[in-house]
Amino acid sequence: MEKKNIDWSNLGFGYIKTDKRYVSNFKEGKWDEGAIIDDDMIVMSECAGVLQYAQTVFEGMKAYTTEDGHIVTFRPDLNADRMETSAKRLEMPVFPKEKFLDAIDQVVAANAAYVPPFGTGASLYIRPYMFGINPVIGVKPADDYQFRVFTTPVGPYFKGGVKPLTIKVSDFDRAAPCGTGNIKAGLNYAMSLHAIVTAHKEGYDENMYLDPKTRTKVEETGGANFLFVTKDNKVVTPKSDSILPSITRRSLIQVAQEYLGLEAEEREITLEEVKDMAECGLCGTAAVISPVGKIVDHGTEICLPSGMTQMGPITQKLYDTLTGIQMGRIKAPEGWIRVIK
Ligand SMILES: *Cc1c(COP(=O)(O)O)cnc(C)c1O
Repeated sequence: MEKKNIDWSNLGFGYIKTDKRYVSNFKEGKWDEGAIIDDDMIVMSECAGVLQYAQTVFEGMKAYTTEDGHIVTFRPDLNADRMETSAKRLEMPVFPKEKFLDAIDQVVAANAAYVPPFGTGASLYIRPYMFGINPVIGVKPADDYQFRVFTTPVGPYFKGGVKPLTIKVSDFDRAAPCGTGNIKAGLNYAMSLHAIVTAHKEGYDENMYLDPKTRTKVEETGGANFLFVTKDNKVVTPKSDSILPSITRRSLIQVAQEYLGLEAEEREITLEEVKDMAECGLCGTAAVISPVGKIVDHGTEICLPSGMTQMGPITQKLYDTLTGIQMGRIKAPEGWIRVIK
């Protein structure tokens, strides 16, 4: 298969239309067969449920070329599970797990020419999503839905080298108590836009959101979970019902315990104790971990000892081990890597 003529190593994180996408429709209570199609445009009613009441959920994952030349995905079963949770919370039908995994395999295989070669640092970003498509004017769930998956090649996250982030403790909330913070839904991103645009204007890279009830505990940023390393080398991540359960974060906890022999724990983390942490990073599919150098709480600066030029030593080990597993350099735990071709 001939690869597309793309400058892989200089790609950013933007949408580039690829040749194929997957679509399946839910009508009269059931999903159709599903198919790979060429058309990237969606035509729907002006009154579609997704347009009026934001009934839509999504997932994000990547396909990579491993060292030995296979195209693989990383724990796609967890994306299927999470999308099921998201769909149920928004009263949407579940796209069955086996069909989900098959759809991802099909769409990646159909776009194999866009999967960046090994060694470029680039990958093929995969975006499964589902939305209410029939007219809905009285507030209620749609009857008909469309499930789609498109892909887009994305560049190496740390293109110009690693640059630790500066984060602002936000005055906005990301999620309500008992709200939708734990699901991957477009609505959580719509309401975060003003907060992130404001933070960027003030010179920050990201927002740290606190727990919506007491505003004393660390939750997450707009699109990534926090991971901290304590001064006695323990890996800790915030536990909360209103954060999105990151697959990267859950994998890193396991890597810390099983590959690096570190203690790792998901627990409540107060803003108060952040000043005592040795390292901090943000975890998600996009970067695996991006290091945090500084957290600013209303004028009070918390400078992480790892500094503003590099990852902390444990963060670096976690990053190297998980990316090694994804790229096939390090043996993966059972079931983590799905070979597509
Ligand atoms: C997608 C997402 C993450 C990261 O999850 P991964 O499964 O690791 O990619 C973290 N926080 C939010 C709010 C997200 O939407």
